[in-house]
Amino acid sequence: MSLFLVATPIGNLEDLTKRAEIILKTADLILCEDTRHSRILLEKYGISQPVFPYYDFNKEKVTLKIVEWLKEGKEIALVTDSGTPGISDPAFYLVREAIKADIDIVPVPGPCSAVAALVASGLPTDRFCFEGFLPGKKGRKKRLEKLIEEERTIIFFEAPHRINRTLKDIQNILGDRRITIARELTKIHEEFIRGKISEVLDKFTVKGEMVLVVEGKIK
Ligand code: SAM
Repeated sequence: MSLFLVATPIGNLEDLTKRAEIILKTADLILCEDTRHSRILLEKYGISQPVFPYYDFNKEKVTLKIVEWLKEGKEIALVTDSGTPGISDPAFYLVREAIKADIDIVPVPGPCSAVAALVASGLPTDRFCFEGFLPGKKGRKKRLEKLIEEERTIIFFEAPHRINRTLKDIQNILGDRRITIARELTKIHEEFIRGKISEVLDKFTVKGEMVLVVEGKIK
């Protein structure tokens, strides 16, 4: 009775580790954020284990049922749409309940867009913090104001339709910092845009998935 948190590719389907493949091939059940999306990966690797959806809008309804299956002795693997389960997705919710029920939690590390962006950013990697997505409207300014004194490199997830607004908000509140926009990581159009915010604003393709890495406050 183990819950395996299996990291999956963030774009390039070759990035599934051998161990992840073996665990997915032998699990009794695979929980997927979007079963149609994960099926592409599962089919590529010839994985035909049963799947069950686990996503933000059904997590409250199905978590206890999944914990029951684990207690009955089932080996269950959790994958999300991409990357490491638990990073900006509902995995935490299940992990917390499974721990309460004394289930073994087994991380199966692999791709994570936040870490991939950080290490290629050229900004300090010795200390960093992860801020996930900024709120769309309410609370956005406050969240950024709390980061004014942050000395560590700061990582944000951002959607393309909001990136320019986010850059302008960061420039206004944190100042004209050095940033890296890591776009379409591991995919054909992978791109890194590096420079001061004023240098990159409105000068890149606002398309695809992106991680924003921002330098911390200069001491
Ligand atoms: N769990 C995932 C991980 O470990 O990378 C992150 C999931 S989060 C819901 C989705 C966000 O991750 C996207 O909006 C984007 O900011 C970032 N992301 C995921 N894949 C990416 C990629 N290939 N290139 C750049 N950013 C990516």
